[in-house]
Amino acid sequence: MAKKSSLKIIFLGGLNEVGRNIMVLEKDNNIVVVDCGIMFPDDYLPGIDFLIPDFLYLKKNVDKIRALIITHGHEDHIGAIPFLFRDLKPAKIPIYATRLTLGLIKSKLSSSYFQESDDNSLLNEIDPSKKLHIGPFDMEFFRVNHSIPDGVGIIFRTDIGNIVHSGDFKFDQYPIDGKVTEYAKISNIGQEGVLALFCDSTNAEEKGFTVPERDVGKTLYEKFEQAQKRIIVATFSSHIHRIQQVLDAAKKLDKKVAASGRTMLKTIKIASELGYLKIPDDTVIPITKIDDFPLNKIVMLSTGSQGEPLSTLRKMALAEHPRVKIMKGDMVIISSSPIPGNENAISSTINMLLKQGADVFYESIAGVHVSGHAQQEEIKMMINLVKPYYFIPVHGEYKHRIQCAKLAQSIGMTNEKIIIAQNGDVLKMNDNLCRISGNITLQNIYIDGYGSGNTEDIVLKDRKILSRNGIIMINTIIDSKKSEVIKEADLTLKGIIYMEEFEQIMNEGREIISDAVKKCFDNNMTNTQLIENNIKETFEKFFSKKINARPVIVSRVIDLGKI
Ligand SMILES: [Zn+2]
Ligand SMILES: [Zn+2]
Repeated sequence: MAKKSSLKIIFLGGLNEVGRNIMVLEKDNNIVVVDCGIMFPDDYLPGIDFLIPDFLYLKKNVDKIRALIITHGHEDHIGAIPFLFRDLKPAKIPIYATRLTLGLIKSKLSSSYFQESDDNSLLNEIDPSKKLHIGPFDMEFFRVNHSIPDGVGIIFRTDIGNIVHSGDFKFDQYPIDGKVTEYAKISNIGQEGVLALFCDSTNAEEKGFTVPERDVGKTLYEKFEQAQKRIIVATFSSHIHRIQQVLDAAKKLDKKVAASGRTMLKTIKIASELGYLKIPDDTVIPITKIDDFPLNKIVMLSTGSQGEPLSTLRKMALAEHPRVKIMKGDMVIISSSPIPGNENAISSTINMLLKQGADVFYESIAGVHVSGHAQQEEIKMMINLVKPYYFIPVHGEYKHRIQCAKLAQSIGMTNEKIIIAQNGDVLKMNDNLCRISGNITLQNIYIDGYGSGNTEDIVLKDRKILSRNGIIMINTIIDSKKSEVIKEADLTLKGIIYMEEFEQIMNEGREIISDAVKKCFDNNMTNTQLIENNIKETFEKFFSKKINARPVIVSRVIDLGKI
């Protein structure tokens, strides 16, 4: 009998972070890519940057790529598709996704700077009741519950064994759309036998089961009932079920809902057109009409639940929103939990809203949010249903994945059957054997500008940040050959209000910059751009801690060693 070829799985992102999810499956010169997302940086760099995966491996192997399969429509799974398309040109890669996911991808591509007129012809709808055959992969999909509708997990049947990818999932026994996770499909594949399970680890630290989404609906209704004045609900625009519950609660109490924020309006339009959001009659009004109704009849639905600098909620908090001035007694509900790294931005938004007299309710303590990711008992249940030979935690920071591994151990999996991989790792699978066989080096790819890639937008946003926060220019002269800082950083401040402590802060800043450069040298980092970035990031953190301001920081390095 001919020897079966091995299956390679390569992680180009999604490990050591919540974001930038992308996994490559390769067999017999056929590549299928699963998800293609972006990641927001630790703390917002002046509001406009995100990271995408390093596509170099895919560029080199573009002839082998047969399909891009997307599990659901969150930015950490679809956000980098326009950049992948740009990088793989002129090759055209077909995309497979469920209906809502496809709708969101379509809108993303059409507003993308890199859009090609025929890109939409590459979009193929996944019907989870049907199988899909591509090259050596037989795929089956199972619906899962998550914080966006239409999410799926994937079963890959190959001649060396079955592979299961959980997608981002949780178990909700009575979800808003009535589409319960397809337990039977998961359990059937478990009966058939599974070589490896790739499992969402995001909430592996949280005990028990996730609270059902409908409980949030009850709390929202109660809060809406108590509100004396206007209500502002901030949530992710992609959280269609949450938006549905806001609309339903408003309808029951005869309140009117006005949505604001470009992405919010866009997503509501797509979701309602595709039938995923049911807009009750006589409930939605344009934001221009809010003054026509009594204060206690108004609900505003906005973006900004992550404290994003240019979002509607942030503008309201800063008293810069053109239409809405926060009044004493307004109720603000932040219906999301912070993505790690956004805590400061959210706190400052909440503080500003409170100062203006709003009552602010946020996170799970107030019962206004539940997570979309499986907690400990759900992860254990997934493992028990799939009964994999190997268990590979994905979608999470290192600590989440370690915790996820411990959960597998706690229900009897042995250590050698659990694999903690890193970004860039290459997993090789043969019959009943799975091991990390290599690693490819990955770069951090930063993107300046928002998903639209629209240059006018970027300039506009830059200007807004500049006008609000000013700019600091850092010029440093180094010699990478001698590993020396030749001249301490020269700092120029523009548009920043002078404070007496500045001299002291700038002296400290210069030292911190020198230390950062030395650290780069210690790590054999001599690439000028990387050193510039390092200086920028280090100084940014230092400066925002010192005076809680976020000016634009421009870092320039002259390397005498390279002249
Ligand atoms: Zn997700
Ligand atoms: Zn995700």
